Amino acid sequence: MRYSVFILLGLLLLVSCQSEEDPPPIRVIPDLVQSHVDRFLLEAERRGRQVDISKLSFEFENDLTSGPNRGLVVATCTQTQDLHLIQIDTTNTFWIFGGEMGHEEVVFHELGHCILDRPHTESKLTNDAFASIMRAQGSLSYGNFNALVRNEIIHRRDYYLDELLDETTSAPCWADDNSNPSFPMTLFQDDLLRFGFLFPTTDQNNQLWFVSQNQLYRSDQDALDAVSIDFEGINALTRDQQGNIWVAGKKGDRGMIGTFVNDVFQIIYEDQQPLGPLFDLRQFLFDQDDHLWFFNDQGSLWVEDTQGVINEIIDQDNRFLSRMALGPDGAVLVVRGFDLQIYQNSIDPPQILNFNNSILPPGSISDLITDGEGVVWIITQRFQGAVTLVRYRSATGVEALNLADVNMPDTFAQGLAVDGQGVLWLASSNGLKKWEGSYFSNYCLYNAGSPILSFSDVVIDAMGNVWGYGEDATTFQKKLLRLETGS
Ligand SMILES: [Zn+2]
Repeated sequence: MRYSVFILLGLLLLVSCQSEEDPPPIRVIPDLVQSHVDRFLLEAERRGRQVDISKLSFEFENDLTSGPNRGLVVATCTQTQDLHLIQIDTTNTFWIFGGEMGHEEVVFHELGHCILDRPHTESKLTNDAFASIMRAQGSLSYGNFNALVRNEIIHRRDYYLDELLDETTSAPCWADDNSNPSFPMTLFQDDLLRFGFLFPTTDQNNQLWFVSQNQLYRSDQDALDAVSIDFEGINALTRDQQGNIWVAGKKGDRGMIGTFVNDVFQIIYEDQQPLGPLFDLRQFLFDQDDHLWFFNDQGSLWVEDTQGVINEIIDQDNRFLSRMALGPDGAVLVVRGFDLQIYQNSIDPPQILNFNNSILPPGSISDLITDGEGVVWIITQRFQGAVTLVRYRSATGVEALNLADVNMPDTFAQGLAVDGQGVLWLASSNGLKKWEGSYFSNYCLYNAGSPILSFSDVVIDAMGNVWGYGEDATTFQKKLLRLETGS
């Protein structure tokens, strides 16, 4: 409060030198729109555009116009010499039901008038969508108030913000169903994909391996081949530090793990007694010293020591184990209940990050990965279904990302991968995305105009081919694609 009074006095002094009749305008940016104004400045800065909001002010008014349009206008911009005034009718349907992105689009449209001096334009793209959010008529262009529609058009926001801040922006990939992605793309539409896509990983020959319906598969150049091994059931799949593929499964009452030696599958680990710890294995990995780590349905964690002996790591609570990943500096990350356990080795007790009583909302961890800088990226799922993206660094601790600020508004992170350069990629409800240092890539960089896919998993091979598994947004058909980004 004291701060705003100080600002106001400063303005009074400045303006009172010029004219005593004209009181200076009182400019306010209310809390209700502050985050949108902040984001406008952020998006302008990302695009190298200087903007001046020193004369900007907001008012909330009902019935912004009289006559036939009375009650229909959601917002207006009025520019005078000292004041760029945006008035918003918060009782308008667009505002009431618009959601955060609807509010943003309304505010950004008016900032287009008031700050960027842009007039209305009604021009259209080849798919009949408006070419700009500076259109005067029509529904919202990316912040639609129908949540179902909004999920299908939120990917358009990247283009509309580009266009708002630079009118020479060329048409987006989604304006044309036949538009090619920026990189060569192979689409795999095999029927088997609808049965699931588990433990995807790539080998040293850049072929993709995965498990579906208890069967092992490997990618060919443009097809998916079944690979036969002598297991009665497959539990999990992983690769070691050299890129060799390992398969865990069972035969009779014994669990076992094997790998391919000169293309011949050989059993390397095997239960010594019926229904041993390997029998119900759920996930396994090899640490930086090639020691085996795994956990099973019984909730027990097992680690191979330097003598090749596999020992159980006892946890007093015996809580549910759900996920495991390699961590920074040779650590192994284990998700147990709401805890993230960080094991530096198999002897010392792990460091524990609790996701149920920290600054973060309660939630379970659905995926995690460590990037080239040692940052652990974590997708947490809250009880109410909201998905959060969290980063952990040992030096600075846990940080939840504001998804709208990192170019992921109304977008779910569903799978994580790290490429050969150590950079994070996302399988998201809004296409494949790459971390650009402080935000995620624009939709059209790594996605085709059609089909638009909601990706649930992503893997990247050593050649920089990005493998994405997901669902066609219109036909709901499961698809796998390979994008040759060469990164
Ligand atoms: Zn307008």
